[in-house]
Order: sequence, then structure tokens, then C-alpha cells
Amino acid sequence: MSNIAIISTDTTSDSSNVNRPVTSKPRGICAYYKTDRGCYQGDKCKFLHGESERLTPFDKSKICRFYAAGFCRRGDQCWFKHVDSATPGSSSREPPSDPHEEEYLCSICYDKPTTYGLLVGCSHIFCLQCIKNWRGSQGKSSDMVEAGTTKTCPMCRISSRFVVPSSLFLAEGDPKKAESIEKYKASMARVKCRYFKRSRPQRRFCPFGRDCFYKHENADGTPYVFDHGADFYMEASFVTPRG
Ligand SMILES: [Zn+2]
Ligand SMILES: [Zn+2]
Ligand SMILES: [Zn+2]
Ligand SMILES: [Zn+2]
Ligand SMILES: [Zn+2]
Repeated sequence: MSNIAIISTDTTSDSSNVNRPVTSKPRGICAYYKTDRGCYQGDKCKFLHGESERLTPFDKSKICRFYAAGFCRRGDQCWFKHVDSATPGSSSREPPSDPHEEEYLCSICYDKPTTYGLLVGCSHIFCLQCIKNWRGSQGKSSDMVEAGTTKTCPMCRISSRFVVPSSLFLAEGDPKKAESIEKYKASMARVKCRYFKRSRPQRRFCPFGRDCFYKHENADGTPYVFDHGADFYMEASFVTPRG
């Protein structure tokens, strides 16, 4: 179980932030913001300023790098602050040094990922950790049955059953991406399925059935094959989604 806050139905936060994935671990409520002195950390505080807040002042005050560099295609929908970085005196704003470099920033935290988390089906860019946190928070929703089979991209809502870790960003359509996905699937297939392992030999069970990416193996080492796929088994069960 992760501690990542879920997207709540709370209507007090401003609308542009409703869909913003919460990626930093909530540390709780700030002990100072209600005091007469106030919170000396101000915008830099990494604790929540209010019971109904989802984002800390620190997260809220992050500045949009795209806007600062001249253009942010998200406009009003952007999760980050649109402020001009050009301070009086410093002459010209620096354009993004390399347009390709700019492309490879994580859509959640706007940092350059050290390990990318590639989704199957779209070319959105995420850090492995950011997208895992996002998917973890999705799994906490009431709709666990659905969340267990597919999770969606926070940018385009395309569903993807897993995230492929990669040291390079690979776009959809790139043969190298297909190759990475196959390699990743092969690596998963070498790992014993934890649902299967937990089930009794007389009554084998995995919510993903034959769609499972993990290994289903009989005691004698032969593969166990389910009659049905995830659609069938998910209907009948209520499971905690895997990470
Ligand atoms: Zn504070
Ligand atoms: Zn922006
Ligand atoms: Zn990120
Ligand atoms: Zn996407
Ligand atoms: Zn399984």
C-alpha cells in the first residue's frame, strides 16, 4: 500500500489542479500555518496547509519551465505556475537550449527522468517513479476491479497494463520500444505470480488468468494454463492491484 493521496472529490482546490497527480509523499499537515506567526517556510513548505489541501505549498509554487522558456502548450490547464522568469536587468530570456532535450521531460514533475517509465500505447514521458506513484494512487479508487487490469496515462487516458522501465526515452512506433516491451514481458514471465503462488494447488487462482504476465507453474515445473483471461476472473473477484 502506498501513501500517495488519491484524487479526491474535494472541490475547494482550484480546478486546474484537480487532475494533477500528487507525486510527492504527503507528510501531513503543517504544524505552523495556523499559528499567529504563520509558517516561516511559506511557499517552500512541504507539509499541507489545510485539511482539504492535496498539494503542499512547495508543489503549488513550482514554476513552469516551458512557460518560463517562452511557451507552454498546456496554457490554463498547466499544473505549474506561469510566471515570467525574466527579471529586470537580465536581458533576454533563454530559449530552451535543445528542443529535443525539452521533449524528454517528465509530464508529471517536469524534470528530466533518470529512468523513464514507458507506457504501452502512447508516447508520453514520465519518470518511472512518477508514473508508478500515479498508477498507485489510481489503484486506490473504488473501482479496483478495473484498476487491476488497466491503468491509464494521466495525459491521454490511454490504458496500459504495465510500465516499462527504460534508461532511454523511446517513442511509440520506435522498433526499439517494441523490443524493450518484449524484453520486459520476458523478464516478468520469469517471476512467479504472487496470486498464483498464494492459491492452493487444488484450486489454482490468478485474477489475470491466462492474461497474467507472470509465471504460473505447477509443482512439477510444467506451466499451468488457465481457461480464461483477466476479464473472466476479475468479474468474480475483488483483488488488490499489483504495482
Ligand atoms: Zn507550512
Ligand atoms: Zn505551463
Ligand atoms: Zn517525473
Ligand atoms: Zn499518454
Ligand atoms: Zn498470475
